[in-house]
Amino acid sequence: MKLSWKNILLWSLPIIVISFFLWQVVFTPVTNENKTSLTNSRMTYGRFLEYIEMGWVKKVDIYDNGHTAVIEAIGPEIGNRIQKIRVELPASAPELIIKLKKNHIDLNAHPTKNNTALWSLLGNLFFPLLLVTSLALLFRRSNNATGGPGQAMSFGKSKALFQIEAKTGIVFDDVAGIDEAKEEFEEIVTFLKKPEYFTAVGAKIPKGVLLVGPPGTGKTLLAKAIAGEANVPFFSISGSEFVEMFVGVGASRVRDLFKKAKENAPCIIFIDEIDAVGRQRGTGIGGGNDEREQTLNQLLTEMDGFEGNTGIIVVAATNRADILDSALLRPGRFDRQVNVDIPDFKGRLAILNVHAKNKKIDINLSLSIIARRTPGFSGADLANLLNEAAILTARERKNQITLQEIDKAIDRIIAGMEGTALIDSKSKRLIAYHEVGHAIVGTLLKDHENVQKVTLIPRGQARGLTWFTPSEDQSLISRSQIKARIMGALGGRAAEEIVFGESEITTGASNDLQQVTSMARQMVTKFGMSNIGPMSLENEESNPFLGRGMGNTSEYSDEIAIKIDTQIKEIVDECHIKTIDIIKTNRVIIDKLVDILIEKETIDGSEFISIIKQYTKVPQKI
Ligand code: ADP
Ligand code: ZN
Repeated sequence: MKLSWKNILLWSLPIIVISFFLWQVVFTPVTNENKTSLTNSRMTYGRFLEYIEMGWVKKVDIYDNGHTAVIEAIGPEIGNRIQKIRVELPASAPELIIKLKKNHIDLNAHPTKNNTALWSLLGNLFFPLLLVTSLALLFRRSNNATGGPGQAMSFGKSKALFQIEAKTGIVFDDVAGIDEAKEEFEEIVTFLKKPEYFTAVGAKIPKGVLLVGPPGTGKTLLAKAIAGEANVPFFSISGSEFVEMFVGVGASRVRDLFKKAKENAPCIIFIDEIDAVGRQRGTGIGGGNDEREQTLNQLLTEMDGFEGNTGIIVVAATNRADILDSALLRPGRFDRQVNVDIPDFKGRLAILNVHAKNKKIDINLSLSIIARRTPGFSGADLANLLNEAAILTARERKNQITLQEIDKAIDRIIAGMEGTALIDSKSKRLIAYHEVGHAIVGTLLKDHENVQKVTLIPRGQARGLTWFTPSEDQSLISRSQIKARIMGALGGRAAEEIVFGESEITTGASNDLQQVTSMARQMVTKFGMSNIGPMSLENEESNPFLGRGMGNTSEYSDEIAIKIDTQIKEIVDECHIKTIDIIKTNRVIIDKLVDILIEKETIDGSEFISIIKQYTKVPQKI
């Protein structure tokens, strides 16, 4: 090898890097201003402000001449435990300091040391160097490795692979509203406790149970409850964690997981989001995902590998059983499926009862009122609702949760954080007309739900909102109800058109129009509510993810496709004309309501209806 400068430089790089690295390690405690080492999690500035609002921020440390903050916060999104999070601050954020003061949050500003220049220079050098050398190391490793890419790195063993809870502390009483699923599991608990009952008569207990249901319905909770009731350890891992960057890691994790589980049998293995690894193989665009396939194969091998009676029960959760590889569902694997659904009224009440136990709730507030107001909420939503309400109560220095806090919390969960209203302007007027348009059309249609509230206070993405009282039974909806909903949704745009003219209509209706189109399409293709007749023309399940069955997605002819489009347009046009009509005939009331709304910013349902009643007849809703 020729001794050129280039070579010397090349070979000295790793040494420089390693010595610098050591230096860094040695000196870091002294220069602990090095905030990057504190935390990897980040949060946007906007979210940070919301966290302050919610009272979730405990401490704020400011670095970098006010460019960066490291906060200590606790909140439901970050697992309800105190975590350090990094926030990039905007160039000037005067309101922040005021906000922090107002909320009595501990604030600490860390002056920048004089040696920053040196540090940042070294830092700037360090990262590229580190990158170059680690890449070089990586290449060498993988070139030397003979066992193929699987051995490139043995991260599979060194990282924390899965969570183990020796005692979950969860019992069946903590799980409410999903009684059928619970019953299924009671048998499994008996098996784990008294396997001899079953083995004596030669019975084999299922190895795998698949829990199918939307997120937040208590699948994890239920799996933990089995472990808790049977008093056995709980191993858990999420399917998405399997799918790693390095090929082979997923499979080795599965192996390790089952090995550990066998050492600790009887026990429960819980695999969340199993669809991340378990979807049908060899589909997907550009060939299958090797990593996923290997992981899945390993999982199948492991499940075949142990006898049914070793006392390991694998519980997996997904919200899409239809996309799972059929090999997973074969006898001896996940041969039992248990459905867990979004709770109905009774279920919601039962779940609220569980979560209200440790909360102070006004005795005049019956939980059934809350259950009635929350159709469509999952168990997790309900738990979150009571928690949000408790936070609001504490912030207002009250000692009991009342309906007021519950209402606020429901609004927040459905539509996001409240913002501040616009000052009076043309766009505020336009939003007011848009919302009143929705509300009045809804009110005047017999088949539409009643207005609960109209507001100009923005929330989440929306700049104004109209709330309708949800009806309890959402499962059977008539044709005239869907049409009424389409008209209600068109009400906002129709009001813009009539009041401001065709050329002034805004993008504000885009979400409404999406809903309108989707409702109309479903009427035609799903519910047989058009001239095409009682046919189901769209089978959502048949194309669960891209790539599968590509090329034969539509099960109808082009002729029918044209008919579908015509029918959809017909429905929407008819509803649009009727909606415009309602807006035109009630223009005087609308103007009046808009004035009131601009002044008060929120009108609640009963007031809204009583104002309309002064001018016209409001149909009795069923
Ligand atoms: P999933 O696994 O279905 O996404 P989880 O079991 O993680 O849902 O539910 C999250 C939280 O929501 C639970 O820890 C619990 O507090 C609450 N929860 C959800 N469903 C129920 C239920 N049926 N009964 C009581 N609490 C529930
Ligand atoms: Zn709208």
